[in-house]
Parts: sequence; structure tokens; C-alpha cells
Amino acid sequence: MYDELTAFIQSWFGTRNFIPLHEPRFSGREREYVLDAIDSTFVSSVGAYVDRFEAELAAWLDVPRTVAAVNGTAALQVALRLAGVKPDDEVITQPLTFVATANAIAYNGAHPVFLDVDRDTLGLSPLAVNNFLTGHAELREKGVFNRRTGKRIAAILPMHTFGHPCRIEQLCVLGKEWGIPVVEDAAEALGSRAGTRHCGTFGLMGVYSFNGNKTITCGGGGAISSAEVELAARAKHLTTTAKVPHPWAFVHDEVGYNFRMPNLNAALACAQLERLPALLADKRLLAEAYREYFSGCDWCDFLREPEGCTSNYWLNTVILRDPGLRNEVLEETNRRGIMTRPIWC
Ligand SMILES: *Cc1c(COP(=O)(O)O)cnc(C)c1O
Repeated sequence: MYDELTAFIQSWFGTRNFIPLHEPRFSGREREYVLDAIDSTFVSSVGAYVDRFEAELAAWLDVPRTVAAVNGTAALQVALRLAGVKPDDEVITQPLTFVATANAIAYNGAHPVFLDVDRDTLGLSPLAVNNFLTGHAELREKGVFNRRTGKRIAAILPMHTFGHPCRIEQLCVLGKEWGIPVVEDAAEALGSRAGTRHCGTFGLMGVYSFNGNKTITCGGGGAISSAEVELAARAKHLTTTAKVPHPWAFVHDEVGYNFRMPNLNAALACAQLERLPALLADKRLLAEAYREYFSGCDWCDFLREPEGCTSNYWLNTVILRDPGLRNEVLEETNRRGIMTRPIWC
């Protein structure tokens, strides 16, 4: 089966010694914009490309405002803080995610509550959240509390795994019912939609990543989107050292963070965002080819976009029917220069 798989993949990519999980592509105006940023001398914490990227990302997502950040993890940390997560609170999330999701909770001094994902989306299951809340939570004067631990449940943080939208609308309904804000880890899901709306625009805030392995990259970077302009303004303030605007004085009105996306990176981000529709179209073609290839396969199932959703197909995924095959598949594919990885622990 490995020879056949290798032949198929090489027929798609051409004969290359190594086929990575994902590789960035800079076929647009990346060089031009980055050189322009250098020529302007504005390479650091402020500059026209930062403002432009924030505006263009907001336009793409169809939200009033986005705030650029130094990376997705930092953006998540700030989004949770702005959602009202405080030390010793609990945040409901999924264990099946990259470590950054749980780290962002821990950076706020809070505790993750890991609940199941759905088999078809690999994202947080509304059924699991509903069961947990009805079984363990109670509404008190100061919020929703976990009866067993006595801690406040401050937020719900689902993740759109590999760019496949989770059941975000149902999660938002539950959040609304209980009065718990939903923050979306949409780090992997730029370009993905549930229905017609973009992932990351359903909850109170959504967070994106532009790390080198993501759908578009600016070297390192992240963003927070919110439909609430007040909240976005707070995000901008907190990620830019909480400096009170003034022509010369350094007055900071709270403990903020230096989580700014440098203008040099924002230049790259602007060029990449222009390429996003083309990159998404290519990802979709590839996923379509894999889907067809694996449709007759008896040892694994190709993960397809959920019903009614459009996935960005950031990374293509198969689920092995026999989990005992996992190490062999990893060893054989990687040995043949086809990069595969197991899902996160
Ligand atoms: C990539 C990613 C992040 C954030 O990543 P950064 O590298 O900090 O930009 C957060 N959550 C998930 C699920 C991710 O895949």
C-alpha cells in the first residue's frame, strides 16, 4: 500500500525527495512589500503595513476590526483575558489541539477543562459541553461555577481542527444560554467557513495564527477579530503596552503586553492575504484529489469537510481504522520522504 501511496503523491507533486506537511509560498508581492517596509525604515512596532493588514483582514473576515499580534498564542492569551478569564477560573476546551490552546489558558492563571471532540469535525463537541454543564455546573450570582471544584467557568474555547469548522453555532447557543463567552481558536482556520460565515467570527472573539506552517504566513504573527469594536480597541491597547495615546508622554494605564506584530512581518502578511483565495483554491484541489484517492481505501478514512461547511483544508488528515497501524504508517511514509505526523498529545 505504501508504494501505491507514494506513487500517487509523487504524481501530484512531481518527483521530489521530500514532501512536507505544508510549505509557504511567496508568489505574490511579498518581496516588493517587505523591501518597501525596509526602505521606509519602519520595520518595527508601528507602520503602515500593520494598519493595512488589520483593515484588510477585517474586510476579508467581514468584521468591523481586527488587531494584529506577535503570534497566535499571544493573541489567544489576550483574547481570553479580555473575555474575563481570571486566575483560578476554569476554561472549557478540547484536549485534541496544539499545546498553545491550553498554554494560553495557563498564562492567564486559569485551568483547562478538557471535554470530548466530535468524531466528524475533530472539534469541541456541543453534546459533551452540554452534558458537562448540565451535570456539573450551576449558575450563581457571580457566574457559572463547577460544583465539584468550586471554580468559576469563565469561557469556552473551541478549536477548528486542521481547518475543519467545529459545531460553532451550537457551542455559541450553549454559551449564550449559560452566559459563558466563547472564544474561538481559529489559528488553523483562516479561510474556513461554517455556513457562509468565517470561522473565528461566531464567538465573542476569534484568534488566528500566521506562523510559517499556517495557510498564510508572515514569519510569525497572529490576530484577534471581534464584532465588538470596544473589545477590539481593548485588544489593541493591551497588546501595545497599554500606552495612553499622547504625542510624547509615556503613560501606561494598566499592565499591558508588548505583543505587537512588527511592520516588517505585516508587510509579508499583506502580500500573503492577497494570495489567500488562490492558496485556498489550491488546497481544495489537493484535498479533492486525496479524497478521491482514499475513497476506496480499506485501512483509513480521509477527513472531509463537515456538512454545510467550507474547510480551508489546511492539513490533510486520515483516521486509521486500526490504531495499531499508526507507528508503521508514520515510519513508512516518513522513510519515503512523505512527511506525516500523528495528531497532538
Ligand atoms: C498555530 C496554532 C496556534 C498559535 O500558534 P502561534 O505559533 O503562536 O502563532 C494556536 N492554536 C492552534 C490550534 C494552532 O494550531
